[in-house]
Amino acid sequence: MTTMKNSLLRALPKVDECLELIQLTQEVDSPRSMIKIVVQKAITAEREAILLDATKCKSKTIEEWLSVFKARIVQKMRPNLKKLYNGTGVVVHTNLGRSILSRSTTDCLMKAGGYYSNLEFNLETGKRGSRYSLVEEILCDLTGAEAAIVVNNNAAAVLIALETLASDKEVIVSRGQLVEIGGSFRIPDVMAKSGARLVEVGATNRTHLRDYENAITEETVMLLRVHTSNFRIIGFTSEVDVEKMVTLANKKNLVTMEDLGSGSLIDFSQFGFPKEPTVQEIVKAGVDVVTFSGDKLLGGPQAGIIIGKKDVIEKIKSNPLNRALRIDKFTLAALESVLREYYDIDQAIKNVPTLSMLTISEEDLKKRAQRIRRRLNNRIKKNCLIEIISTNSMVGGGALPEFRLPSWAVVLKPLSISLNFLEKNLRMLSTPVIGRIENENFLLDVRTIQDHEISGLVEMLTDFFADGETSD
Ligand SMILES: *Cc1c(COP(=O)(O)O)cnc(C)c1O
Repeated sequence: MTTMKNSLLRALPKVDECLELIQLTQEVDSPRSMIKIVVQKAITAEREAILLDATKCKSKTIEEWLSVFKARIVQKMRPNLKKLYNGTGVVVHTNLGRSILSRSTTDCLMKAGGYYSNLEFNLETGKRGSRYSLVEEILCDLTGAEAAIVVNNNAAAVLIALETLASDKEVIVSRGQLVEIGGSFRIPDVMAKSGARLVEVGATNRTHLRDYENAITEETVMLLRVHTSNFRIIGFTSEVDVEKMVTLANKKNLVTMEDLGSGSLIDFSQFGFPKEPTVQEIVKAGVDVVTFSGDKLLGGPQAGIIIGKKDVIEKIKSNPLNRALRIDKFTLAALESVLREYYDIDQAIKNVPTLSMLTISEEDLKKRAQRIRRRLNNRIKKNCLIEIISTNSMVGGGALPEFRLPSWAVVLKPLSISLNFLEKNLRMLSTPVIGRIENENFLLDVRTIQDHEISGLVEMLTDFFADGETSD
């Protein structure tokens, strides 16, 4: 046993020799320091594996080692954050980057990054300015709010609003709205971090105005409403109307706050979606503070938007936590660009990718699927059958969880490899292709594949079927 261990350890190549050999083959064009790290790590990992259980290891020839190194160097040279083709049909896909931005918005990002700007410089007075002023007026124009501030994301928006307005005080929330969003954002936990004391009222399925009324004490400062974005309570249910809650709060001199989550500026019910309150409707109802995400239904960059009454927003603005939660110039540049689109709703629906993906007609989706099928058929039909079928897509981002959008998908039916092999290996491409397996079919839902991405996608799949799908 030990002799086997020892001979395996002795057979491990020397780092310097490997570097020499890699240099000689001249095949890889990477910095020497990177190559050295790769070689050292691979040999160290093998040594540890031998020490742990030599029976599971076998010695490699130097050629085998070289091909291990080369594969790892190629891997290391590629960016870790890769663009990919989203064939899941989930528009606001949190794992795939949520909302994507239009070309004109990404142009703004490049300007913000590549040049100096008036980020915190008032061009009229020549003095220091506020970065928030770049989007505050637009947010007020679009929502009807008196004032606005933007932070890193909606979780931060909820945190800073509660910390400012309700630290050490009581905040009343309905039991039906104690949401967990995922990624460890739970309303009760965020409230605890903010120092606010949570007072739960009502039952999971029903909460009445009198429940709020009876829970108000000397210590109460706020009535909080949380949009139940990612789940539904159905059946015998009731929640208190926003207007009634505002009336009660005004009578008792309390602040009202609403965490809208997805927060849309457009009423999607005109496109056949279930009715959800828009940001404007909540502001109009008289809620003091409203928070929502920048990168969910709004279709912008990651951000947490806080709008509401002037006096309340001013307090939040002067909270020192702002400095810790503040947004950077890229976010501001992208957010301003996306918000400007909303001055003309028809243009916004055309130009903001999230909105156009959510509202594109089934007929256009079918045409897109047919186009992709036609182009793939010409190239890969020897190795893969291609069909199109109708399917359903989801909004994603925790919005409208039970709602399905009729869509179309391209189905790939490989002739010599399994669906699992196909799915896995498309994920490993230099530009990964992410689809889903459903009823023994591999689907690419075309809702989330933009027209200008089709050529690249077809290219990727053609290369894969030409040389990639050799073994199962
Ligand atoms: C998504 C969501 C959040 C968190 O927003 P992020 O922008 O992801 O931080 C908070 N509350 C609700 C109700 C949400 O839907």
